[in-house]
Amino acid sequence: MNKLGHCTYCGELRELTVDHVPPRCLFSKPRPPLITVPCCEPCNRELGSHDEYFRLAITTGIDAINFPKEVADSVRAINSLTRPQSRGFAQRMLRDYQPNPSRLTIDKGRVEIVLHRIVRGLFYHHEQRRMDGPIAFAFRMVDQNLKVSLDGQQRLDRLASSLVTIGNGVFRYSFESFLEPEPFGTAWLMRFYDHKAFFCVTASDSSEILGENSQVSNTAEDGGENDNLQ
Ligand SMILES: [Zn+2]
Repeated sequence: MNKLGHCTYCGELRELTVDHVPPRCLFSKPRPPLITVPCCEPCNRELGSHDEYFRLAITTGIDAINFPKEVADSVRAINSLTRPQSRGFAQRMLRDYQPNPSRLTIDKGRVEIVLHRIVRGLFYHHEQRRMDGPIAFAFRMVDQNLKVSLDGQQRLDRLASSLVTIGNGVFRYSFESFLEPEPFGTAWLMRFYDHKAFFCVTASDSSEILGENSQVSNTAEDGGENDNLQ
């Protein structure tokens, strides 16, 4: 029987497993030492179901010279996807893979689930306390479409200058407190494969994130299930 304890994500007192942060599947073998946080079995199963999708979405168009194994893994994974909804995604991936690998329509909701979980896991790892209660989460991709205020840019620059790296450029991240004294107000910069970068914010109340103080925004509207995450 596994040890009883509180899950990092749902907070329930349950038998604990460990969750790797970020997902272990992002790293090719031999894997570097990875951060783990306590996690209950239901959360592990539910959250883990999005990992492979996330990895495929993130690795599309990565630098094949610096990340040859990850590119090979992606191609293998695309070929082995069998669920109907995965097949549709795989076909889009394949269609986009060679001619124009930088453009791909992906399910933004699933990407958000994984990013949110990474943020909560890393927060627990560094702060030794869980983000408790309903946590609002928002993210923007950091690319040429990102419109950033002066303050927002300074924050991004600050975060970019203090990135911690796990696994040879596979994952880099940094964070800082965002809206003090808001206990769970944090701002994050996360970069995957030196290829896709995300700015993420958390707060206890969604009104704190999407209010008029919002410092960054994408030019594209956020509506809709799918977004072109290029
Ligand atoms: Zn849980």
